[in-house]
Order: sequence, then structure tokens, then C-alpha cells
Amino acid sequence: MPKGRKSCPDCGGEHGVRTKECSCGFKFKFRPPIRRGKEIDVSELNEGDVFRIISGTGSFWYSSRTGEKIYSQDRYKLTFKKFEKNGMFAFGKYGHEYIYIGESYISKTTGLHYRKPRIKLVKRKKSRDAI
Ligand SMILES: [Zn+2]
Repeated sequence: MPKGRKSCPDCGGEHGVRTKECSCGFKFKFRPPIRRGKEIDVSELNEGDVFRIISGTGSFWYSSRTGEKIYSQDRYKLTFKKFEKNGMFAFGKYGHEYIYIGESYISKTTGLHYRKPRIKLVKRKKSRDAI
């Protein structure tokens, strides 16, 4: 079968992969879309879980010059370590990171808008002592 084609299991007719129904009436089943990470609350994290901060969430600086929000955390994968007062520690590509998860506020000294990020779970740590 050439790439991008599929055949009808009923009549053998050849179709493009996006065809939903064959002329003989056979309906093709579509695979459900790949499940991206599920959004969870940071409080649901356990040590060793891998997560990613959702774009456009979390602490940021606002550039009045360009009107742009510059996020203080990168979007690469992070491994949760532990909670700390108003925040949590995780490691990523560039080592340890402190992520603020308390009430939103703006720092007068740095101008950083502190805001709890929304996160997506990438992978749960496999637990040896499963509940
Ligand atoms: Zn058919």
C-alpha cells in the first residue's frame, strides 16, 4: 500500500488516509488523537513526577516597551522534587529551579509578576510501593 493510502477491508477499494467512508458503505475507524499530558494542579505532584509548565502561565515580567510577557520559567520538562513555602523545587535541563506557586503579586524590586503556573503531567514516577 503506498504511503498515505489505505484499503477498504470490505471491498478492497483504495482510498486516501483521511477518507471516512468507502463507496461500498464501509466506515473507517479513526484512531483517537494522541493524548497529550493531562493538566493537573501542582498540589497533585509527587516526588519524581515529570511535568511541563503550560505556555502562557506562571511568573512573568511585563515589558512595557514591547508589551510582551517574558516568562521566568522555561517550557522544558521538569522533575518535581519538593514543596517549599509558596513554591516548589524541581529539576530540569539547567539544574534546580524554584517555581513560585503562591498567591499572585508583583515584586516591587524586580518587577516580576509572581503567579502560580498551570502544569501538564508528562509522566508519573513509577512507584514501587503502589497503593
Ligand atoms: Zn469498500
